[in-house]
Amino acid sequence: MEVRVVDVRKEFDRFPALHNVSLDIKSGELIALLGPSGSGKTTLLRLIAGLESPTEGTVFFGDEDASQKTVQERNVGFVFQHYALFRHMTVLDNVGFGLKVRPASSRPAKAEIRRRALELLDFVQLNGLEKRYPAQLSGGQRQRVALARAMAIEPKVLLLDEPFGALDAQVRKELRRWLREIHDKTGHTTIFVTHDQDEALELADRVVVMSQGRIEQVGTPDEIYDRPNSPFVYGFIGESSSLPVEVKDGAVWSADGDTGLSAEGTPDGEATLYFRPHDVELFDDNENNSCSLAGTVVTSRRVGGTRRVELEIGDSRARVEIEVPADYPAADKSRIAFRPKHWKLFPGKAG
Ligand code: ADP
Ligand code: MG
Repeated sequence: MEVRVVDVRKEFDRFPALHNVSLDIKSGELIALLGPSGSGKTTLLRLIAGLESPTEGTVFFGDEDASQKTVQERNVGFVFQHYALFRHMTVLDNVGFGLKVRPASSRPAKAEIRRRALELLDFVQLNGLEKRYPAQLSGGQRQRVALARAMAIEPKVLLLDEPFGALDAQVRKELRRWLREIHDKTGHTTIFVTHDQDEALELADRVVVMSQGRIEQVGTPDEIYDRPNSPFVYGFIGESSSLPVEVKDGAVWSADGDTGLSAEGTPDGEATLYFRPHDVELFDDNENNSCSLAGTVVTSRRVGGTRRVELEIGDSRARVEIEVPADYPAADKSRIAFRPKHWKLFPGKAG
C-alpha cells in the first residue's frame, strides 16, 4: 500500500508539532523516520495510523483519502516501544488477538486463528514458545511477539515506533538485521521511527530526517550520509567539520586564503563550509596547490585504524577536524593541506 502525506499540519493547543509536512511512501518500502526527541516522529506516525487527525492537510492510502477511514478500516499494524503484550495471555493468544476481536463477519474460525498464529510464531522464529506468558520471555522475544501480533491482521501498513528502544545494544543490532529480513520476505510497507542514526542508515530503504516538526531531508542512506542538504543533517548524522568562510565573487576564502572551491549558487558574504572529516584528500605540498585548504596541526590522536587531526586555519582560531592515515606525519604545528571530496556551503555563520 502506497501512503502519501500531503501538506499535513498538526497543532496541539496551537503548538505546531508538524509544519506542513509532505511525504510519499512507496508500496513495499521500509522507511525510517529519524530525528531527535520532540521532532514530531510519533505525531506523524499517529496521523498515518488515524490515531490523530491533521489540523490541515490529508493522508492518502493509495488513491483514497484516509480521513474517511477509521483506525480499524485503515488496517495498520503497530509495534510501540512500550506497547506491552497482554500479560495474562499466552504468546499464542497475544498473536491471535487482533483476529479474535474482529467483527463476526470477518473473524476467522478458532482453529484458523490458531493455525495463523503458529505460522507467524514460526516466521518470527519463536516456535515452541506459544504457551509461555510474556513475563517468561526476554525483551527481544517480547518485541518479536509484538511484531507477530501486528502482522497477524495482515496489515496494509506496518508502523513501528522505536520498537527496539528499550532493549540493550547487542539485542537491538540483532533485531535490526532480523527486521530487515522479515521485511524483505513479507514486502509490507513499513514505517519505522527511531532516534538512532545507525539503526536508520542500516535498516531503511529511505530515511526521513526530521527536526522541530519539519522534514529536513528525505533520501537513501547514501544520499543522507554523503550529501546532507542542511547544517542540521550534517550535525545530526555522522561526524562533520564546519569552517567559517567568506564568499567573494564566486570564490570561497578561508582565513588562510582562497580555497579554490567554487561558491557557485552561494551569495557573497559570510558562509560556512561543511564536510565529513574522513572524506578528504590530502596534499603533500600546499605551495603548488591552488585547490586546497591548509592548516596547522593543533592536536593529533589515534582513533582505531586512523588518526584524527585538528587543524587551525590561518590565524582565525577556526578549527576543523580531518582524518588521516594512522602513520601520517602530523606533528604539532606542522602544516597539512587537504581538500574535502564532498562538501557544501551554507550562507551565514554556523548556528
Ligand atoms: P518525537 O516522537 O519525535 O519525540 P512527538 O511527535 O512525540 O516527537 O512530539 C512532537 C512535539 O509535539 C513535542 O514537542 C511534543 O511535546 C508535542 N506533542 C506531542 N503529542 C502531544 C499532545 N498529545 N499534546 C500536546 N503536545 C504534544
Ligand atoms: Mg516519539
